[in-house]
Amino acid sequence: MESKLAMFGGSPAVPEEHRQVAWPVITDSDREAMLRVFDTGKFAEGEQEIGALELEWAKFAGTRHAVGVANGTAAITLALAALGVEPGDEVLVPALSFIASAMAPLHQLAIPVFVDVDPRTFNIDPRRIEEKITPRTRAILPVHFHGLPADMDAIRAIARKHDLFVVEDVAQAPGATYKGSAVGSLGDAGCFSLNVAKNVPTCGEGGLVTTDDPVLYEKVVMLRQFGEVIKAGETRIYLSHMLGWNYKLNTVQAAFTRRQLEHYPEYQAQRERNIAAFLARLAELPGLVVPHVPAGCTHVYHIIRFRFDPVAAGLEGVAPGPFRQAVRRALRAEGVPISQYQLIPLPGQHPFQTREGYGQGLPWSLPGALPQRYAIEDYPQALAVIEDSLTLQRRQLHPESGPLLQSYADAFEKIWLNLERVGRMARSAAYEAPWQPIVRQRPYVPGGASAAHLGASAMGIE
Ligand SMILES: *Cc1c(COP(=O)(O)O)cnc(C)c1O
Repeated sequence: MESKLAMFGGSPAVPEEHRQVAWPVITDSDREAMLRVFDTGKFAEGEQEIGALELEWAKFAGTRHAVGVANGTAAITLALAALGVEPGDEVLVPALSFIASAMAPLHQLAIPVFVDVDPRTFNIDPRRIEEKITPRTRAILPVHFHGLPADMDAIRAIARKHDLFVVEDVAQAPGATYKGSAVGSLGDAGCFSLNVAKNVPTCGEGGLVTTDDPVLYEKVVMLRQFGEVIKAGETRIYLSHMLGWNYKLNTVQAAFTRRQLEHYPEYQAQRERNIAAFLARLAELPGLVVPHVPAGCTHVYHIIRFRFDPVAAGLEGVAPGPFRQAVRRALRAEGVPISQYQLIPLPGQHPFQTREGYGQGLPWSLPGALPQRYAIEDYPQALAVIEDSLTLQRRQLHPESGPLLQSYADAFEKIWLNLERVGRMARSAAYEAPWQPIVRQRPYVPGGASAAHLGASAMGIE
């Protein structure tokens, strides 16, 4: 292989023909399943496809029940609502996740309280949970981030001790296991996403809530459809018993996911082989930190995150952020679509900085709600991970991504042969941390103006 970096005029390590791999995989049998749904003319809640998916999903997740819902965010909101999490209650959320993990509690007027992450697993750090517990805390929301189970024994022990609910955010980790049990079966409720980019997708948006609790199950079923009780075979009487939503799944989405779930064991086995062979090559490169998988866990690699350590790479005087930036440029030139996923810890996102919420400052302005700092410097591990890491997304989910991933490994190895030059680039390039432009920004207001009233406290400085 040519050793000259593509960035400096060499030919890219990733050949064009390998780049066609996409996700999700759609086969003729998927197409036929879709057509069969269209031919039945039955699209709404209550039809067989949805009930069948719920049974199959409960089996997959190792729970007694599963409820199909509109999306993963709705799944979290419905689980919190069904558990009785109330306005002004606090929910503990990892500081590094997708925004939905923190926004879903807000939809229930609950207040997210952030906990820093473990720098090796990128999951909520159980050692930092108890210091965040207050008399208002009602639930812990561990996210199995990137497909790796959170430290559930430690989390459940803390929840038991303080009488808290555990609601798992399983959006990135369907099929991952913790000490032999599927994630989604380890808390009071599990919340899954069927978004088209996730590991077990639908053709668009969808989600599920899993639980062993028959009462919780019944409540989620009511909440997804206006608080009504609708029994199979009985006429709907349009009577609502409680505040509910219209958060249902449809039969096209259910049928699509049923096909994907059928393929799951075969796709997952191939993925594991492809990704293991890829990571084995990368683990040889000094200063390249591949994902850590604690004993007793399986990782389903929804996202593959690498950290970059310039000291271990032998680069004197190069800081982690500039090293990551230089490696990113070099990898992208080689044809590796490496990217950053999450540029700022969740508390730095505008909804938490402005605290406008529903208007009138709700939920933070509720009587009895405790004040929140939302200062990103309180989450040094999340900041460090954001600063020095890069991610691969989506293409590695394709069961035939093996050759593509091998050419990515070629690209990494080529860059490591040229580390001195990459290091020089890192030393001389202009650099600012990923969150700095965001911290300077005002939230966008539709119509183009900027909110001018962000004060010091709204920027997290108290
Ligand atoms: C995708 C995702 C969600 C939300 O799922 P949607 O179906 O997109 O609403 C929640 N949490 C995490 C960690 C996610 O990645």
